[in-house]
Amino acid sequence: MQLRQLFDHQSSTYSYLLWDAKTKQAALIDSVKEQIERDAKLIQELGLNLQYLLETHIHADHITGSGILREKFLAKVLVHKNSQSDCADILAEHGDSISLGETKINLLHTPGHTNTDISYLIEGAVFTGDTLLIRGSGRTDFQSGNAGIAYDSITQYLFTLPDTTIVYPGHDYNGLTTSTIGEEKTLNPRLANGKTREEYIAIMDGMDLPKPKLIEQAVPGNMECGL
Ligand code: FE
Repeated sequence: MQLRQLFDHQSSTYSYLLWDAKTKQAALIDSVKEQIERDAKLIQELGLNLQYLLETHIHADHITGSGILREKFLAKVLVHKNSQSDCADILAEHGDSISLGETKINLLHTPGHTNTDISYLIEGAVFTGDTLLIRGSGRTDFQSGNAGIAYDSITQYLFTLPDTTIVYPGHDYNGLTTSTIGEEKTLNPRLANGKTREEYIAIMDGMDLPKPKLIEQAVPGNMECGL
């Protein structure tokens, strides 16, 4: 599997372009509407056949480019079924998988940041969206978020992967690009040193964060694939 990590400065969002080298079948995880020209150009330059536009969740901080890219490339938009999005082509759930050539992408439902979070698992790597960030985790204080459920998702589904698994997060605000499961288990301040569920909930409840600037436009916009 080939991989390209792409960044949107305004929202600090990472998008990921994945493709099978042999068949050139490709998927784009978490596209950003402002970056669709960049992404479309790259897909065309590399001669890729875009099959899927995957969302790690219904985002509150940026608008997806999936609806526009779907029209351009005739790809399928996938979001978790809890979103009840009526623009998506695939409403996915835990245990589903998709294929790019001979490579399989397995879907884990890892809710807590929202109730629509999906982590995408390939061999040796996991795309964690906002469920697990580098030395952090997605906020749980709006949009069906739940700190206890987030803790369960991280500890039961992500921290049980091999320590060497590379973590590709949905955002980073400090210039970091990737981590590993082993690194986050020992160094993530919200989870390391055997933090309990109660301790995690207290940490998340204690964060006094401002509401995302774009939430009023982004959430309804993303329910409509950004169109
Ligand atoms: Fe998010």
